[in-house]
Amino acid sequence: PGATTPGTAKTTAVRVVRDDREPLVVVEGVNKHYGELHVLNDINTQVGRGEVVVVLGPSGSGKSTLCRAINRLETIDSGTITIDGQPLPEEGKGLAKLRADVGMVFQSFNLFAHKTILENVTLGPIKVRGMSRKAAEEKAMALLDRVGIANQAKKLPSQLSGGQQQRAAIARSLAMDPKLILLDEPTSALDPEMINEVLDVMIGLANEGMTMVAVTHEMGFARRAADRIVFMADGQIVEEATPEQFFTDPQTSRAKDFLSKIL
Ligand code: ADP
Ligand code: MG
Repeated sequence: PGATTPGTAKTTAVRVVRDDREPLVVVEGVNKHYGELHVLNDINTQVGRGEVVVVLGPSGSGKSTLCRAINRLETIDSGTITIDGQPLPEEGKGLAKLRADVGMVFQSFNLFAHKTILENVTLGPIKVRGMSRKAAEEKAMALLDRVGIANQAKKLPSQLSGGQQQRAAIARSLAMDPKLILLDEPTSALDPEMINEVLDVMIGLANEGMTMVAVTHEMGFARRAADRIVFMADGQIVEEATPEQFFTDPQTSRAKDFLSKIL
């Protein structure tokens, strides 16, 4: 699935003039292989503080791998990734701090199944941020309220709908006061009627100035919330543009082809 032919001629990404936000994430010359597969091929991009970047692209184009590399859930073969001017830590305490600073929300929610929703949200702040239980619970309840599930706090994840679980996962990320949230297809596993309740939370975060990188197939969200679209294909960033530019006047045949299939 999504096979990249090694040695495919390199395309130069079509770029647009960026705004002058201070960069929070800087990705430079990043390459990664899985065996023969060149899954990240000379990736260069930046995410500004408070910027909302939506990553689009066909299945297998490397979107998840890029997100996972930014959170150092994957190693890279070459290049550099810095967050707030700091290179990604290799291990130990630095890595735990990175994971706290860079929230990650997955398609599959990834909540701890045997802990209540409240415990899921308080665990990180208590263990990693050293918060008192009382303070962590107060904060967690405020966040659960904000994502609309305060009344589910004492339940186990399995007792919640998918949309509620995903909102709990977002609250869990927010509880760490992350500098950045990565969301990898956060609505792809949800029944259609639950997608909007999660997108609404994401739009709220975007409006409040949270720095976000979201991989999604929800084009309505991309148009409405993204400051910038990063379009990937075959491990490369092929096009970067504002949503307006990308959806109305894509510059590359890959992007045109992608949009013709999805819209
Ligand atoms: P996307 O998120 O855009 O669908 P991914 O980043 O998940 O793409 O995957 C990019 C390519 O890398 C795909 O061809 C996928 O099969 C391959 N891939 C992903 N993870 C691994 C892995 N752990 N080992 C080998 N190949 C992988
Ligand atoms: Mg993916």
